Parts: sequence; C-alpha cells; structure tokens
Amino acid sequence: MPMWNPEAESMPRNALEKLQGERLAKIIEYTYHQMPFYRQKMDEAGVKPEDIRSLDDLNKLPFTTKQDLRNVYPFGNFCIPMEEVVRIHASSGTTGKPTVGGYSKNDLELWTEVMARTVTSCGVTNKDVAHNAYGYGLFTGGLGFHIGFQRVGATVVPVSGGMTRRQIMLMEDFSATILTCTPSYALALAEEAGNIGINFQSRMKIRAGIFGAEPWTEEMRREIENRMGIEAYDIYGLTEIIGPGVSVECEHRNGLHINEDHFLPEIIDPATGEKLPYGTEGELVFTTLTKEAMPVIRYRTRDRTVLHAEECACGRTMVRMEKIRGRTDDMLIVRGVNVFPSLIEKTLLSIEGLEPHYQIVLDRPKDQLDELEVWVEANRHFFEPIDTRRLDQLRDEAEAELAQTLGVRATIKLMGPNSIERSAGKAVRVVDKRALYKDS
Ligand SMILES: [Zn+2]
Repeated sequence: MPMWNPEAESMPRNALEKLQGERLAKIIEYTYHQMPFYRQKMDEAGVKPEDIRSLDDLNKLPFTTKQDLRNVYPFGNFCIPMEEVVRIHASSGTTGKPTVGGYSKNDLELWTEVMARTVTSCGVTNKDVAHNAYGYGLFTGGLGFHIGFQRVGATVVPVSGGMTRRQIMLMEDFSATILTCTPSYALALAEEAGNIGINFQSRMKIRAGIFGAEPWTEEMRREIENRMGIEAYDIYGLTEIIGPGVSVECEHRNGLHINEDHFLPEIIDPATGEKLPYGTEGELVFTTLTKEAMPVIRYRTRDRTVLHAEECACGRTMVRMEKIRGRTDDMLIVRGVNVFPSLIEKTLLSIEGLEPHYQIVLDRPKDQLDELEVWVEANRHFFEPIDTRRLDQLRDEAEAELAQTLGVRATIKLMGPNSIERSAGKAVRVVDKRALYKDS
C-alpha cells in the first residue's frame, strides 16, 4: 500500500533523529520565550534553551502534566497572539474544565498532512467514499478526519454521530467504503443494521474502519471485524498534541506508527519519571516539534504502552507504539488490588455467549468492602425463550474466569439484549459510585 509522504515516513533513522534534534532545539528556544509557564518550569529546573542541542538532552527538560494545562486554562499556553489562532478544539473533560487545543494556520496545515498520512496508511484513496461518524464540533475526531479525507481526495460524508438508523441508510445508499467512528459506535451500527434486518456484511460496501478515541482490545477488534466483515485499524491522538493524526496502524497492523518527525515520543516509568528503553512498558510522553500555537514539551499522556523501533515490512521507519493498554489513571483499585478495565474487556470477549456490551460498576456500601460488578449482555438466544439454567452456567463461568485473571472477585450481572446504553461517541465503561461516599 502506498504512503502519503514517503520522504518523511520512510526517512532513514539517523536522518530522522538528526531532524528531531534540530527541531527540538528550535521548539525549546521558541517555547521558552513565548510561554511563561513553561519558562518558569525550565528556570526552576535550572535548564536554559542553549542546553538543548540534540535528542540526548531531552531528559533535562521538565514534564508537562494535564494539571499544568488546567492551571493556565483556557489560553495560557498559547504561544501566538489570538489574531493568529484560527481554530479552537476542546476535549470533553469528564470532570471540570475541558482541555483546549489551539491551532495557527500552519498548525492546521500540519494536521491535514498527518491526517492524510493516517488515512493513506489504512488504504484510503480518492476512489473511496468515507462515512465519517466521529462527532463534528469541539471534539477533534470529526474535523480531523474530514481534512485528511479531503486532502487525499476521498469523498467524505460528514455524517457526525447519532441517528443510527439513518446512518445505516446513508452508508448503503452512498456506497460508503470506509467507516470512521469509535469502536463502540461501530458495534452499535452493526447491531442496529441487524435489528432492521440488514445483513451488514452483504449489503454494505464498507471494507475498512478506522477506529479510536477510546481504548479497545485485540478481542474487540476481532469482534468488530467478524460482525462487519471489514478490516479495523487503530488510531491514536489527543487534543493536547493535535487530535487524531499522532499515530496509526499500517496494513501489517503490528503497532501504530507515530508521526515522529512532528511528535517526539518517549516511554517513562510513571513513578520515577525515568526514561525507559524501547520494548519496555511505561507511560507515553510526547513533545510536539513543529506546532506554533500550542507546543507541548514532554507531555505526560498517562497512556500505557510499549514502543518498538524495529523496521516494519511496510517500509515506514517511524517507531510503532502498541495498542494503548489503558490509562495510568484508568486503573481501579478494588479491595487493594489493581484492576485494569482493559483486562476485564479481554476476559469477557473470550467467553462464548457474552456480547461486547458491558459496564463496570464499583460500589462501597457504608462500612463495607468494595463491590465490583460487571454488567454484560448475554447473547439473545439465551432469552428466546429465557433459559435460566444456561444463563446461570454462563454467569458462573464468567465469574470464575474473571476471578482468575483479575485476582479479585467480581459479580457478573447478565443482561438481556440492548440493556446497556449504546453511545454514539465514547462509551461509558466504568461507573464508580464509591466517589459518592468519599466525604461522608
Ligand atoms: Zn508498518
């Protein structure tokens, strides 16, 4: 499959690292003089811009955290006057204020370039009709994909999220070949098609989906691919860095190539901040090398993954990051045991008879221990007519599997079809009611 920008995407590693070093020195010089809060951080750490000459100097620089960005909300980390800011995006922010992204004209051009690389990496060309069901608006997903599809000359259908039944009709009528949305919404689309008697695989021309904006496992990928008869690609991005376009899988789907000439990745030990070598799991950290409006230096994403620098058969030289293994702050502590929601998903999807719709509910009744419940839908054939004996067996099997993999007991609540709310955007997977009792 072709690359959008072979000169950049398959640049020899030594040339790439030299370019990254030069860009790093430049962006530090720029940020130091344009962004007071980061200058203060550097001063406190005793680092001057002239100390940063190459990639080897990176670890002298202080980190930027989400809290740092909150402290200067909304525009305190912009490096250009508002007259030169041409676009604002923001992430939803489940608690409190959103995270803001600002773009100059050049930043939008950069975003278009990395999104053109992204969709080309998934095989999209000007022959494709792209059904873009990512939300349009402050969220970066909709408009991010939109500009990438336009740049490669694909026909983009800016359908945005919601009105699922109508989406099925449009997808079929317009002969869409590419689908973009969250993985959970892809499942909701396939399910709704089934509900109205449309066999997704035989009626739709969709051949590939580009899914992201929420963590999903390999098991979920297989589930989506089997139900829709498509190839599912994983993408990664965040508002703080640029939105989608940070990294994407190639046709080998053995990790997501990072657009490293613009976004410099590191893996660190989240506890000590120490830089870890390729092949080691840790927290992903990014430095933007070319952004004007809102550069970020050593931004701690809180996403856990592993980087690989070995050559990929596609010819790209850009490092690959493994599928995100969860956020460092996604980890739930249940009766003192660390529990990762991704491990729960992986386990549930490996059990025959369970559906990929679930919710994790945590509670702590007064003066009692934590209770971990997993609500998951069972296949509809258990309910037509209801077969309580086999449902009990299924529940026992799922509880035994979860206890084995998590090391802590979880109560399974089996639900009928469509009991778990479907989302047009990011699915709500964890409901932690324990927070309600914190002050009581
Ligand atoms: Zn590759």
